[in-house]
Amino acid sequence: MSNQLNFSGGPGALPASVLRQAQEAIAALPETGISVLGMSHRSAWFRGVLDEAEANLRALLDIPAGYHVLFLQGGGSLQFSMLPMNFLRGTGKAADYIVSGYWSAKTPIEARLEGPVRIVWDGQSDGFRRLPHADELALSPDAAYLHYVANETVEGLEFQGIPGLAGVPLLCDMSSNLLAAPIDVARYDVIYAHAQKNLGPSGVTLVILRDELAQRGAPGLPSLLDYRSHIAARSIYNTPPVFAIYVLMLVTRWLCDEVGGLEAMAALNRTKAATLYAAIDAAPDFYRGHAERSFRSTMNAAFRLPDPATETLFLEAARREGFYGLEGHRSLGGVRASLYNAVTLEAVHTLAEWMTDFARRRG
Ligand code: PMP
Repeated sequence: MSNQLNFSGGPGALPASVLRQAQEAIAALPETGISVLGMSHRSAWFRGVLDEAEANLRALLDIPAGYHVLFLQGGGSLQFSMLPMNFLRGTGKAADYIVSGYWSAKTPIEARLEGPVRIVWDGQSDGFRRLPHADELALSPDAAYLHYVANETVEGLEFQGIPGLAGVPLLCDMSSNLLAAPIDVARYDVIYAHAQKNLGPSGVTLVILRDELAQRGAPGLPSLLDYRSHIAARSIYNTPPVFAIYVLMLVTRWLCDEVGGLEAMAALNRTKAATLYAAIDAAPDFYRGHAERSFRSTMNAAFRLPDPATETLFLEAARREGFYGLEGHRSLGGVRASLYNAVTLEAVHTLAEWMTDFARRRG
């Protein structure tokens, strides 16, 4: 299947077994005989899909009691707005934001529409090549919350530790690394991730939200933008993306039953990343990684070649070889290989070997 050489930054590769089931479900679901695209979101079948997706996520991530698991729309970007609408508006406090890359740089812009914002660290002047150390963060104990992006998809920077102060709600965008490894959910008040990296197709965004924070949301919000509406309606406040949620459920089932959980997934992801970075580091005069080594992401490896002409040659040759989606993000250029959960170790070996060979021939 050509899908197995998909290194796109997102929407990304999905597991081959999930794609086969999705294909069958479009014709007719084995359970109902009806196409998944024509199934009512109010059906008992779909309630079962939502319940299984939530149960699998609770098992995989060890989500404690007291957290809601919501399936929303609007992508990661709507969360940039919904979070400050619910938890900054009218508090009389300021919210703390870490700006560590292309995606987190967008977050305070939306928050400022709702209230005062403090940028507690900004990596722009360093070209977003590294992440802050804990002692560099100017955090405030009276902040409405602290927001950060756990994995910067464009630059390939991934936090190793968890920033924050006890007593200040912690809100985190994990769009590009959720379900890649175990995490300690109890350290967070909100975790969100759009589906189109590790969770499924685009169209659905997972939000894991502490009930105690949700109930303190601002009054008077439009229903669709108020987390409490979605909690009360158990993710069916309005018509949800049934197909996307169905595929997300299949991905969680794949993680539980075929992969064997997030420890196993993390071990495989570490091997994949080590394989690719080894190919980059073995040709230091040809490939130059964007991120400083200790901040390298297991999910996205962004790198440059000696000059733009060689990068173009590389990308053209890669496309001919069957590697899809290696172009760097439009804001950064260069090359980016995304190694999401469904990208196999075999695919990464194939890419790494081809890169080594390319550097030998062109370097
Ligand atoms: N956050 C991160 C970390 C992302 O990588 C992206 C997009 N790739 C977004 C947010 C924006 O997501 P969306 O396009 O779903 O709004």
